[in-house]
Amino acid sequence: MAIHSLFLTLFLSFISPNKAADAPRAATKMPATQPKNIILMIGDGMGISQISAGMYVNGNKTNLEKFPVVGLQKTYGANSLITDSAAAATALACGVKSYNGAIGVNADTLPVMSILEEAEARNMASGLVSTGSITNATPAAFIAHATLCNLTEEIAGDFLKTEIDLFIGGGENAFNRRKSDNRNLLHELEQKGYFVSDYNQQPLSEIVPMAQQNFAYFTAAEEPLPASQGRDYLPQASNMATYFLDKRGGKNGFFLMIEGAQIDWASHEHNSDYIVSEMTDFDKAIGEVMKFAERDGHTLVIVTGDLETGGFAITPGSQADSLITAFTTDNHTASLLPVFAYGPGAEFFRGFYENTAINAKMKQALGW
Ligand code: MG
Repeated sequence: MAIHSLFLTLFLSFISPNKAADAPRAATKMPATQPKNIILMIGDGMGISQISAGMYVNGNKTNLEKFPVVGLQKTYGANSLITDSAAAATALACGVKSYNGAIGVNADTLPVMSILEEAEARNMASGLVSTGSITNATPAAFIAHATLCNLTEEIAGDFLKTEIDLFIGGGENAFNRRKSDNRNLLHELEQKGYFVSDYNQQPLSEIVPMAQQNFAYFTAAEEPLPASQGRDYLPQASNMATYFLDKRGGKNGFFLMIEGAQIDWASHEHNSDYIVSEMTDFDKAIGEVMKFAERDGHTLVIVTGDLETGGFAITPGSQADSLITAFTTDNHTASLLPVFAYGPGAEFFRGFYENTAINAKMKQALGW
């Protein structure tokens, strides 16, 4: 693009001084700021205090400092000021405020196309990675349409209705040990041409996915372990997913959602050590994504939460390496959440907006 513009400028300056004067302005209007790929990273339950705790304990550093654009989002849902992960994920994935429990459906329970489904329809590659079950609310809203988030097996069935290129997470039982029917969705995925594997067969770190085949990997039968108990796949899975989807998407690009699911669980449990270890793991994944995005130059990276959990605070008497913390609730709160953006199109994410606007801004950045 740059070389082409230079030749154009030189050529125009030779034939017409007036047009030559216009050429640089025309060049700056070219879509150099339009991303090819979008990576949306969601820290479930991740408010400002969770980010702060992870940062202080890790030597006052976080990869979020690399993001040049910061915004704020309003998380409330259609029927509640206090949202849940289902309504919040539906807002991010589908761009509509819905009721608590809604997966990819609007407040009238009607399905709404997600950004992942639209990316597939536009021949982009797509992927989902989570440290929880892949059928849990956050990833589910990007691929499934269900009236309630606990319809786990119905949500698993919706994975077969898409052409998603890659997914990595827990919750294998909803695919191969189903109570609602006798289907084995692992076999059905293989019949559709997927490479399918799990934690029992081989560690994710020993797999090199082939670009010719869609990829599904299950990290647990139910929920994966906390990072503090040995779960370590998120940074590697994030790295694998970016390079794999880059190949799969080619010139059409890709959409990838990566979730740090257990920041929320730790906050529900009022366990600040658990919060810090999950934030540390999520921050490593952000680091892997940023390595890809910095090299690639065509990738918009957005990091945010779906909601804040616990009304978590770092309280007086704390030191950077030993935090004294407090929680105001066992549940979620209505706190505003920070949004961090990097790469072409990041400027759309400056300011103060609804969670649904994140969906609109991603599409706007892609030129949809
Ligand atoms: Mg979640």
